[in-house]
Amino acid sequence: MELWTPDRSWGEECGIFAAVGATRAAETVALGLHALQHRGQESTGIVASDNGEFHMKKGIGLVTDVYRDTDFARLPGRMSIGHNRYSTTGSITLENTQPLRVVTRSGPLALAHNGNLVNARELRAALEESGSIFQTTLDTEIFLHLMARAVAEAPEDALIEAARQVRGAFALLLLTTDAVLAMRDAHGLRPLCIGRLGDGYVAASETCALDLVGADYVREVEPGELVRLDPQGMRAIRAMTAASPRQQCIFEHIYFSRPDSRVFGETVDRVRRRIGHRLAVEHPAEADVVIAVPDSSNSIALGYSEESGIAFELGLIRNHYVGRTFIQPKQDERDSSVRVKFNPVREILTGKRIVLVDDSIVRGTTSRKLVRVLRRAGAREVHFRVGSPPVTHPCFYGIDTPSRRELIGALKTTDEIRDFLGVDSLGYLSLEGLLACEREPRDFCHACFSGQYPIPVDPSATKLMLEHRGAGAAR
Ligand code: AMP
Ligand code: SF4
Repeated sequence: MELWTPDRSWGEECGIFAAVGATRAAETVALGLHALQHRGQESTGIVASDNGEFHMKKGIGLVTDVYRDTDFARLPGRMSIGHNRYSTTGSITLENTQPLRVVTRSGPLALAHNGNLVNARELRAALEESGSIFQTTLDTEIFLHLMARAVAEAPEDALIEAARQVRGAFALLLLTTDAVLAMRDAHGLRPLCIGRLGDGYVAASETCALDLVGADYVREVEPGELVRLDPQGMRAIRAMTAASPRQQCIFEHIYFSRPDSRVFGETVDRVRRRIGHRLAVEHPAEADVVIAVPDSSNSIALGYSEESGIAFELGLIRNHYVGRTFIQPKQDERDSSVRVKFNPVREILTGKRIVLVDDSIVRGTTSRKLVRVLRRAGAREVHFRVGSPPVTHPCFYGIDTPSRRELIGALKTTDEIRDFLGVDSLGYLSLEGLLACEREPRDFCHACFSGQYPIPVDPSATKLMLEHRGAGAAR
């Protein structure tokens, strides 16, 4: 473990899905991506493999907007992979939309990656120095260049050679002409699981996508493992020595994954309930109702309610149809950005002492506006309870967090944050308490709360760094 205080963050929030042996693999992938929409809403892509030919469809926007029924006739084949992206490295362009498709000496390949490489800058500089021409500004492309230069020709062996040279977080799916290769980094930072669908297989970031396509859960891809899925079956290869302990991203359990998914061996809702129980023990409140900041905090708020005996109410209703680019009602109007997304239920709030439960506070700006909305709806007291410790450090492994300069937990004390939010009391779950909610506390990365980065990071790395490298960089 390295103690490190880097300043800037870059990330790549994504969802990935693969289908092998399905009659209309690309359609199955589109369904799977729909279930993984929460992991990335800016762009999406699908590549299908059909008798050695790769077909592709990509677009900026949501899965339901990008794919039309007529597209699937142009995406034939029994093997396919797909990707949803929230661009945090590289800007939003179609070239930067994954999967990345290339033709190599061993045939066409397509790659979908969730995570971030921490040595992307050095690797890319070295590759460009020796002649590589990059098509995108994604760190993901580095895998393909390293594979193209590998001694081994077979995609499995070339991928293993490449994976051994990169450092950082990756859950990835590689489509070849005859198989899908699914692989996780040695620390197991990002999730990836396998399911059985008819005679074939699927692979997904989260099990909620397996459920939607009707697949049965088989198991997770282990840290450092490569699993080959082809129409003949499934074969596991130990590609790298797994780190011990693992470093699974605890933020997947707190915020990022869906509560109905099983991630890192546990149903996310179960972990969040335990977080809520623990939060109520660490930070009780004299109050009339518990309300969640929907939807990510629902399970934590329910846990808080169960432990404290204070009734859980739906005091805030979320509008789900807010795109990232949605026009705000009046740009300069106070709290408009929050009111577009959340509306208070006045009858529940008026005159009441409220426990407001959220999973995390990052910048504090949304939380502050929400508190004002509750006060205007008549809340008498607001006791803010947070299901994680203060976020003090940015993530370099695939979750989008701002630089330390914008993290309220790095800038202010808890009392100062309480005053900034305008709440009557504020309680953050302790790191010890959070880890106690996990079955294997040692197996989790918690760098954004502790600064203990399991893989050393580059403190000057930024979100758009591969675009700002001067004349040599692809744009
Ligand atoms: P803020 O008050 O501005 O810090 O916003 C806190 C809210 O952001 C919480 O409701 C979290 O659920 C949510 N949140 C936490 N991490 C992220 C992230 N990486 N991307 C988007 N929202 C997040
Ligand atoms: Fe997850 Fe935080 Fe670690 Fe990033 S730093 S991988 S968000 S636990």
